[in-house]
Amino acid sequence: MTKRIVLLIYTGGTIGMVKDPKTGTLVPFNFDDLLGRMPDLGLLDCDFETFTLKEPIDSSNVHPDDWVHLAEIIEKEYDKYDGFVILHGTDTMSYTSSALSFLLENLAKPVIFTGSQLPISDLRTDAKENLMTAIQIASDYDENGDAIIQEVGLYFEYKLYRANRTTKINSEHFEAFGSMNFPALAESGVYLNYNKNLLLRADKKKEFKVHKKLDNNVVVIKLFPGITKSVIDAVTNIEGLKGLVIETYGSGNAPSQSWLVDSISTAIEKGVIVENITQCPAGMVDHGLYEVGLQMRKLGVVGGKDMTTEAAVTKLMFVLASNTYNIEPKQWLRKNIRGELKDK
Ligand code: ASP
Repeated sequence: MTKRIVLLIYTGGTIGMVKDPKTGTLVPFNFDDLLGRMPDLGLLDCDFETFTLKEPIDSSNVHPDDWVHLAEIIEKEYDKYDGFVILHGTDTMSYTSSALSFLLENLAKPVIFTGSQLPISDLRTDAKENLMTAIQIASDYDENGDAIIQEVGLYFEYKLYRANRTTKINSEHFEAFGSMNFPALAESGVYLNYNKNLLLRADKKKEFKVHKKLDNNVVVIKLFPGITKSVIDAVTNIEGLKGLVIETYGSGNAPSQSWLVDSISTAIEKGVIVENITQCPAGMVDHGLYEVGLQMRKLGVVGGKDMTTEAAVTKLMFVLASNTYNIEPKQWLRKNIRGELKDK
């Protein structure tokens, strides 16, 4: 049997850094020499090739155009490779991987994001295990020739997550990501154990489709006690604003002061889509639970259920840019399209 082949795409971030002996600062290393630095990769029972973006970036500098660029690379190389590993800085990895999950429709091959907290050159690095297992997952196929993972995943510190369920939760620990509202898709120990009943499957009757538009005329507001009318008004009156994600309390509750209600309702009348997610790390928005939540529903605010901020904001960009659907954006937002929210 021919070996599976994986494309490693290096976008930047700590994982690909080494110390410049002259200056002591971290600089990107040449990924073409990955085998030289990690000879153990040669023991994997798949092949891999590497591709480095023209200018690797710290992921804090990432922009939605970069997400579209990554989607285009995958589209171009889709038939040639069995799986993809995207090496990315951890800071915004959950945003990029959530965005990719929306841009790549009916994916039948693994697209696995990973990175590390310590550079690959560091003696105590977490990069090697993360990278090695991510490649293994990206090349894992069953006896029928189908990829085990047919969605965008994020592998970090022994766990594979659905990417659009993740959030960076720690800037120091090796366990840097959490998926508070959805279990891990796989855990790596002595064995690589997949949670098979959770995995998304591609529709074999449909083609793989890549979307290439995102609209970033959106904003996120996090409520806090004492937030002023002038702040809310300034945000809802931003010229060209099309979408607003509002991080409310608990199960989707917001203060009932009339100025806040009026401001949101004026924005909605102007055509801004307002989506409500909870600022609790776990749990979901339920507009029917309290009076203050019910008021949000009456205004026409979309309940974002158990979505992360990263998934909510990238989905909003995706839905706002897409004119390919026959259903209106608000309905599309409520719908579970890539496993990003609870169905019921
Ligand atoms: N600042 C880095 C980045 O996100 C951190 C990392 O890679 O972990 O690109």
